[in-house]
Amino acid sequence: MYIDTHVQLNFSDFDADRAMVIGNAKKAGVKQFIVPGVDHLSCRTAVHFAHEYPGIIFAAVGFHPYEAPKNPDLSYIETLLKDDANKNYIVAIGECGLDYHQYKGEVAGGRKDVQQKLFREQLEIANFYDLPVIIHCREAFDDLFATLNTLNKIPRGVVHCFSGGLQDLRVIQELGLYVGIDGNVTYSKQLATIVPHISLSMLLLETDAPYLTPVPHRGTRNEPKYIPLIAQKIASLQGKEVSVIMEETTKNAQALFSLPENERL
Ligand SMILES: [Zn+2]
Repeated sequence: MYIDTHVQLNFSDFDADRAMVIGNAKKAGVKQFIVPGVDHLSCRTAVHFAHEYPGIIFAAVGFHPYEAPKNPDLSYIETLLKDDANKNYIVAIGECGLDYHQYKGEVAGGRKDVQQKLFREQLEIANFYDLPVIIHCREAFDDLFATLNTLNKIPRGVVHCFSGGLQDLRVIQELGLYVGIDGNVTYSKQLATIVPHISLSMLLLETDAPYLTPVPHRGTRNEPKYIPLIAQKIASLQGKEVSVIMEETTKNAQALFSLPENERL
């Protein structure tokens, strides 16, 4: 079986047919889902769906760097974490991180120092609660490493939707962080040069659905049922059997997020 380690099943894009999307993913062998929050509402809905689909959906709670300019209240995340009813339903902090990508000449996440502060505070929450962290990083790898290095302890975690270069990959693997690869691996020339260098023991599969739809479905909404297409592309880039990619990445996801055994899957 596969695990989709980053899928926004909590977004309204799936309101009309969420149960069918999950059912179709299961038929494709994708049986568990890590659903991250990006803001207040999506953290709440991620936890809600983890309760609705126990043992199948697991929530992460955090604030995306795009939220940084709004100065979000991190005590909300702690309220969710401290609620005993949510025990075993929240398996990570995130997604959080740094995004320096410019849109119409402006950094979408706003001031870099404000992003760094929001990120750092969430890393500290991850350490305090001993949870892994789901890191979003776009065009900000040097500051990502600088921020991580200000901590007493680097949390366990994954750099999701990896978009860096070979040197960035080397540092990430030295830090013991996992690398998340998405559907853009089916068409990105950059990723085709990177993926052969990712250690299989540090690799995770994710769709980031509804975004980043893989070939041959580009132009339509992405869904977790397409995880096997990502695994196949990685298998061909690494010269390995797809079954090996499936088994190893599932093992990695279970280890990183401490997922409980689910006999019914
Ligand atoms: Zn992201």
